[in-house]
Amino acid sequence: MIRRCPESPDKGPIPIDNDVSRPREQCGVFAVYGDPRAVELTHYALYALQHRGQESAGIAASKDGAIRFHRGMGLVSEVFDRHILEDLGGSAGVTAAIGHVRYSTTGDTNLANAQPLKIRFIGGELALAHNGNLVNAGELRRELEEQGSIFQTTLDTEVIAHLVARKGGLPVVEAIGQSLSLCEGGYALVFLTPKAVMAARDPNGIRPLSLGRLGEAWVVASETCAFDTIGATFERDLDPGELLVIDDSGIKSMTFKRPGELRLCIFEYIYFARPDSDLRGLNVHAARKRLGRRLAQDFPVDADLVTGVPDSSISAASGYAEASGIPYEMGLIKNRYIGRTFIQPKQEMRDLGVHLKLNPLRSLVRGKRIVLVDDSIVRGTTSRHIVSLLRDAGAKEVHLRISSPPYRYPCHFGIDTRARSELIAAFKDPEEIERIVGADSLRYLSLDAMIEAVGCGRRDFCVSCFDGNYPVKIPEGVSKRMFEGPSGSPITR
Ligand code: SF4
Repeated sequence: MIRRCPESPDKGPIPIDNDVSRPREQCGVFAVYGDPRAVELTHYALYALQHRGQESAGIAASKDGAIRFHRGMGLVSEVFDRHILEDLGGSAGVTAAIGHVRYSTTGDTNLANAQPLKIRFIGGELALAHNGNLVNAGELRRELEEQGSIFQTTLDTEVIAHLVARKGGLPVVEAIGQSLSLCEGGYALVFLTPKAVMAARDPNGIRPLSLGRLGEAWVVASETCAFDTIGATFERDLDPGELLVIDDSGIKSMTFKRPGELRLCIFEYIYFARPDSDLRGLNVHAARKRLGRRLAQDFPVDADLVTGVPDSSISAASGYAEASGIPYEMGLIKNRYIGRTFIQPKQEMRDLGVHLKLNPLRSLVRGKRIVLVDDSIVRGTTSRHIVSLLRDAGAKEVHLRISSPPYRYPCHFGIDTRARSELIAAFKDPEEIERIVGADSLRYLSLDAMIEAVGCGRRDFCVSCFDGNYPVKIPEGVSKRMFEGPSGSPITR
């Protein structure tokens, strides 16, 4: 991981592998109940959700009244093989399983923090997997530790496990419901017991979670693209504050906490979700195209071609091209085969390293005035490098168009966006950023334009990273930590 000040005179490399200049996906969860191919289906679904986390993957399955699980560091393809899937009950008619892919937003990156977690308590065995963040995890953890709980991980998920275990005298569904009512933040959870699967979504619906149907079976996933992969059909999104219980008697819905306003993370549309997923009934690719069209209407420019930063900005770039009448071209080629283990280049190889991940199509960009569409600017390093790549390839002008507003505040709900001190737009205006990234012009979509383009109203989305108004009260210690840089020293304007 390379960290570099956006204003550093040394251009430095684009962080090839673990790009800290972009918001990073959180986690993906999946659950299935009632299909004898449960383990294989979960395995496939995790491939579909891989974009949400590449650090670790895991599956838990209930077999013969007990829960087996396997987790490992790396991509789904690295963590599972035929033997492991068989051991989990792959061809043994196991009908219920949950799965998880992880990118760490809280907790360290190590195997102990991989999910699903499995616990054995007075209520029996329980496995759980989590996407999101509890803003009061620190507080809850302290209280639990004072009461004698011993933690083995640094995960919020383990806090939930301990809360459930402490209510072990209650039926497990009640214990889960009561525990979740204490949890503040943005989260989507799946649980597995030897007899049931459960799924829950935070009271503001910040993190997405959908219910699908596969024949007689029920499936739950962070994104609907997982349903397409396994041949399931979308039923509905889980409601905010809803706890679903699926077992042999069917599916039951209950409310574990009075729902607040629905505030789905708008960044799912902008960047995180796969273009073939639907959120609230709107396809993500279509939403990104609308953002691009609006960008073209609000910020036109005379240019020869439009290109997008692959992969997440291609839909918005095609929308910009359509609305502006300027042809869309594939100006940048992304290398998809750079694995997590790529060794960062030494100083003398840095210039070459830049071209490893992204390479401009020289014959296309040479001598051209280019509209470069990107979904966001977080630290500014990536934008600066891409603009410079295009210029080095002979582009005459590079006009940067961002399909979201300036990213000014950190996320507390499961997205790793760095501390506020590392967000370039927190302390610099667009003109300064334009100069730093070296673009001929830089324009951001306004907050109102973004919301109008996606549809629905302002109060339907979490837009906290743009306006700093969080839908959940953030404990003072947490917000102070996120204001400060990694060194702990507050930034000065
Ligand atoms: S703060 Fe931003 S990234 Fe985080 S949940 Fe809200 S909209 Fe999404």
